[in-house]
Amino acid sequence: MATLLGTIVNCLRYDRLSPTDREAVRVDRLRSMIRHARTASPVYRARYADLPPDSPLSALPPVTKAKLMADFDDWLTDRTVTSSGLQGYLADPDNIGRKFANRYLVFTTSGSTGTPLVALYDRSANAVLSGLNTARGIPSRDDLAALVRRGGTSVGVFAEGFYLGYASVRARQLAMPWKRDKFRVLSALRPVPELVAELNRAKPALLGGYATILELLAEEQLAGRLELAPSLLMAGGEHLTAAGRELLEAAFGCRAYTSYACTEAGPIASECAHRRLHVNDDWVVVEPVDDDYRPVPPGTTSAKILVTNLFNRSQPFIRYEVTDRVTVHDEPCPCGRLSPWLEVEGRTDDVTTFTDSGGRAVRIAPLPIYAVLKEVPGVARFQALVGRGNTVELRLVCTAAESEAEVASRATARLKAFLATHDVLDPAITVSPREPVRTSGGKLRHVLSVAEAEVSSP
Ligand SMILES: [Zn+2]
Repeated sequence: MATLLGTIVNCLRYDRLSPTDREAVRVDRLRSMIRHARTASPVYRARYADLPPDSPLSALPPVTKAKLMADFDDWLTDRTVTSSGLQGYLADPDNIGRKFANRYLVFTTSGSTGTPLVALYDRSANAVLSGLNTARGIPSRDDLAALVRRGGTSVGVFAEGFYLGYASVRARQLAMPWKRDKFRVLSALRPVPELVAELNRAKPALLGGYATILELLAEEQLAGRLELAPSLLMAGGEHLTAAGRELLEAAFGCRAYTSYACTEAGPIASECAHRRLHVNDDWVVVEPVDDDYRPVPPGTTSAKILVTNLFNRSQPFIRYEVTDRVTVHDEPCPCGRLSPWLEVEGRTDDVTTFTDSGGRAVRIAPLPIYAVLKEVPGVARFQALVGRGNTVELRLVCTAAESEAEVASRATARLKAFLATHDVLDPAITVSPREPVRTSGGKLRHVLSVAEAEVSSP
């Protein structure tokens, strides 16, 4: 059973171990997790049935979200948890940040296709999650000290829901109601002027949120409407580009950090003072692979990665497929950390610009538009191409059971209603049968800013 303090101590100790001793820690945790999954999870027991007990990790078959969610009731090692039991809990937004069955914090992914993944963190898993963030989330002692001096008030701008970012803050608020004003969270779907007003009142020492949202707020800060003096910024959920980081640091006059995390394995990599994302390899195994799950060598961009979570014993993730293109590096980093570092393929969605009823430019981050469209019933895949003059071309792929015309009108209505909350009252939304645009790596782009000519006419 891990504890918060124990994890912090463990992380700091691991960082000082020799390569041989580090390897021993990793091998021990991995063996223990595989043994536990084989014994206590029917899904893994069945999948590994024909494999010898000492099989190396690379011999174990990879698992996918679709497969694990389809077999949910046979997956968890706590055999009392069922998907039907979770359904009622997840249907009530009041449960965000509250424990399921008095035992688990529940997080879901925001996947745009199929069922979202549901991850359960028991007390021990949650302690590792928080411990890792505390021990390695902020690489500079000076920044940490400045944050503490300022009282540590933090505001995160996230999408509301059972998502890792939002639900973790809610859980902290519920656990420590007397500190409610210290950890605040604002909905990323609100118009930027509203966020600016709230932030000017809250004056956070730490401002966190999606990279594109923070970049929009940086524009507000430079324009003088937002007047914050944070000690540090924490961008997550989206790739922070070098240009984005430069903008944030120039606007707010402090350091901006990022991390690479996922709901299934927590913080996969944390940044060092040299701005490299070092894998938290004491708690997660990252295997970069090609399309056929063959390993790719260091320095080569993978098609996806397989992650193995070494701390969630209630819900094992072993060689779990994550479709991010990642380049792992094994050459040393000047910071001295021995863990390999990685680069994640840049973000694929754009900030878009609309015009409000008064003729002013309204900048909207991709995430709110994504969050609105992915909730439309009947939409399997979608893409919004935003052109000049408030034109939007929606490319929709519907689930088989739904009428395309109905889904299209639903999606159009939802997007219109959302844009109206930003005072964009006359969008010309067209639904086109064209294929969604993908990146060179085949990843679907959800929100694109395009020139007028690229948006097809109705
Ligand atoms: Zn480093």
